[in-house]
Amino acid sequence: MEDDTRTPAEKAHPGPATEGSAPVASSPTTTSAAGANSSGPLPLRHGHELPFVAAPSSYLRPKPISRTMSDNRASGPLDKEQMQGLRGVREFLKVRTSYDVLPLSFRLVVLDNNLLIKKSLNILIQNGIVSAPLWDSQNSAFAGLLTSTDFINVIQYYCQFPDEIAHIDQFRLSSLRDIERAIGVLPLETVSVHPMRPLYEACRRMLKTRARRIPLVDRDDETGREMVVSVITQYRILKFIAVNNEQYTMLLKKPVRELGLGTYKDLATATMGSSVLDVIHLMVKYNISAVPIIDRDNKVLNLFEAVDVIPCIKGGAYDELSATVGEALSRRAEEFGGIYTCNEDDRLDAIFDTIRKSRVHRLIVVDDDNRLKGIISLSDILKYVLLYGEEDDDIRGN
Ligand code: AMP
Repeated sequence: MEDDTRTPAEKAHPGPATEGSAPVASSPTTTSAAGANSSGPLPLRHGHELPFVAAPSSYLRPKPISRTMSDNRASGPLDKEQMQGLRGVREFLKVRTSYDVLPLSFRLVVLDNNLLIKKSLNILIQNGIVSAPLWDSQNSAFAGLLTSTDFINVIQYYCQFPDEIAHIDQFRLSSLRDIERAIGVLPLETVSVHPMRPLYEACRRMLKTRARRIPLVDRDDETGREMVVSVITQYRILKFIAVNNEQYTMLLKKPVRELGLGTYKDLATATMGSSVLDVIHLMVKYNISAVPIIDRDNKVLNLFEAVDVIPCIKGGAYDELSATVGEALSRRAEEFGGIYTCNEDDRLDAIFDTIRKSRVHRLIVVDDDNRLKGIISLSDILKYVLLYGEEDDDIRGN
């Protein structure tokens, strides 16, 4: 699926600075010039500027230890406002459907399960997309989603069975499940949701299965057959929330540090000189979709994302994965949206402002010196927005 509902400002936003084999990324930041307590619009930054951080590091306090999602005892005015904001967003998600998230016009690329994996890769690249629903034409049924994880699995397969490289070009999309079995990864649960069900349900399902995107599948009234309507991503859902709920997101004034939003311990990182293959192994080991690229002082230079794997294996060049991260990142498409950073003192309302205005897929949390502190993925934000303070906060239910 590829649709473009970016605002003109987003379209105008240039990609990050990537120079030759050693790209340097700095980024728009959610940190406002007025500091962490400002609720005004945030200036977006790009190019070589380092994130501007108003709060000195001496303000930093230790992150609250293992605060549970349902730890809802605090009840100061800020807490009440925060809960009011969260309740507003949750109500919104319950009255809107997944269908509402779709733009007025979009195109959907559906791939036949019988297609060669190699060809599917070219189709994704040619269409500038990173995933596509699969269709089993023999049974006229939806057959799952093709994502960068599948290509990572093929790479893992190649690493485990190097003698098979001669046959890899012959693999079809229908063999992806066999590849999963051969390398011993648990097949991703193929979840889908009816487009007219509440959006809240799609969100719960995504959190439960750790899926970053969910297909909308309807049934044809006449034939009774499944129809893939579209695919919605965590990115699009958070954008939809941000654009339509400013009155609620502006109440989310607590800073990232206090919310414990994101991951701060045991971070998977790599350097510009690491091989792409090493980074792929890290993503598999940690079950994550991005690895911050740092220098020897722990300063953030860039971010390698699972989708960056796709151009690396263009044309079936699986044996070129020994290239460095620096080389791989220099092949990024020109329209790449950039890396977004924030500070632990930034507030959730500021993050929603940035999501509203830009193409944010995750935020790297840095200190005043651009040193890596943590990472906030869209699933962390979605999880907080949906589950914080809920009795049933362990994403069991739908
Ligand atoms: P994601 O793969 O981005 O959806 O993230 C899944 C979970 O892993 C989230 O809770 C993130 O905070 C966490 N995470 C993302 N990237 C990293 C990383 N490089 N190292 C450790 N944890 C991460």
